[in-house]
Amino acid sequence: MSPRRTDASASLWEDAQKVIPGGVNSPVRAFGAVGGTPVFFDRGDGSKLYDVDGNAYIDFVGSWGPLVLGHCSPPVTEAVSAALAKGTSFGASTAAEVELARLIVDAVPSIERVRLVNSGTEATMSAIRVARGFTGRGKIIKATGCYHGHADHLLVEAGSGATTFGVPTSSGVPEEFAGQTLLVPYNDADAVADALNRHGDDIACMILEPIAGNMGLIPPNDGYLSDLRDLTEKHGALLIFDEVMTGFRVAYGGAQERYGVTPDVTCLGKIVGGGLPVGAYGGRKDIMACVAPEGPVYQAGTLSGNPLATAAGIAMLRELARDAVYERLDQAAAEIAEGFAQAADAAGESVHIARVGSMVCMFFARGPITNYADATTSDTARYGRYFHALLDRGVYMPPSQYEVFFISLAHGPSDVADTIEAMREALTASAT
Ligand SMILES: *Cc1c(COP(=O)(O)O)cnc(C)c1O
Repeated sequence: MSPRRTDASASLWEDAQKVIPGGVNSPVRAFGAVGGTPVFFDRGDGSKLYDVDGNAYIDFVGSWGPLVLGHCSPPVTEAVSAALAKGTSFGASTAAEVELARLIVDAVPSIERVRLVNSGTEATMSAIRVARGFTGRGKIIKATGCYHGHADHLLVEAGSGATTFGVPTSSGVPEEFAGQTLLVPYNDADAVADALNRHGDDIACMILEPIAGNMGLIPPNDGYLSDLRDLTEKHGALLIFDEVMTGFRVAYGGAQERYGVTPDVTCLGKIVGGGLPVGAYGGRKDIMACVAPEGPVYQAGTLSGNPLATAAGIAMLRELARDAVYERLDQAAAEIAEGFAQAADAAGESVHIARVGSMVCMFFARGPITNYADATTSDTARYGRYFHALLDRGVYMPPSQYEVFFISLAHGPSDVADTIEAMREALTASAT
């Protein structure tokens, strides 16, 4: 194995830190959780990423989820090019935004009306404002370790980057804001029942990831989501599924289709924008009627429903609506998870593998892992060594134990075989 070239990335990393806080535009990119110098990428193509030093990698980050078709998927690229030729932004109504909204309404069981925004953060922030406006109540319930973007009232023991960096709450969030958020452990319906029994009249909503994907990957226990459905309904609180990661990922209709539990409001992002900045929130007609200009809950956006972004989103969803897409994703993911399990077994390594469809997480922990406290038993230093050993072998996985490994339709049989071989070597090479 010839050593990986890193000079160009190292030089950019030095420059970046002089002009960008921490050298990055989103914390996890700084490699704080795995050490070493971040890789600067130049281009992507199908399953592959190429960095500024000319190294190639099989990419399992997929821009943190959106790229379920891989990089530069022709339908998406062509749709964006065609839209680009007609103008980048009008700040006014277009046919494409109606079409994307129609596709979402037809796909996601809980969504009768949908509003497009520019990020997942905006979607969850707005959904919570709507829940408060609709119910006239102030407090919310959040599951520890679930990440819902970086709005103030949600940065309360947030997962994702904040977990890895060991910062339970962000500076700059007033205690009064955080005090509006009640925390419960994930997969614990009794804790939700208790919170609702004590504060039910004040609680506007419970928000959670129906499959937790920002503390590693943690699927919901049997019955957990339907228990939450019953409990919130009983107390007049809304149930919000944050499907920014799982929407169009674990099934065309998201986790709510997969598990057969319908929330009141759903948040989307990532895949729905086809790799461009899009978020969305939607739900029952009577709830969404609260949103301005129809109702009193204000929410707006200069670039919302942007023509390039809606073109990408429409092209993406049309591809995902084809036959057997999710079966193909599932099969490639199952092979990789099985390959890793066998390699870990052969190396005598104790690991816990979580998988739902094309979302996979390889925890360096014994398991079982059903909540945030369990997830933090992982050996993150071990993960960091493994991550670098894989990077040196041309496989790019998330630079943090607490992120999800995403399989795309661009990962073909040779990518799967090469990845399994690289995992086998990397496990041994990074053992101590
Ligand atoms: C990524 C993510 C968000 C935040 O989306 P951004 O577009 O990064 O603001 C919110 N919720 C979940 C579940 C996510 O995975």
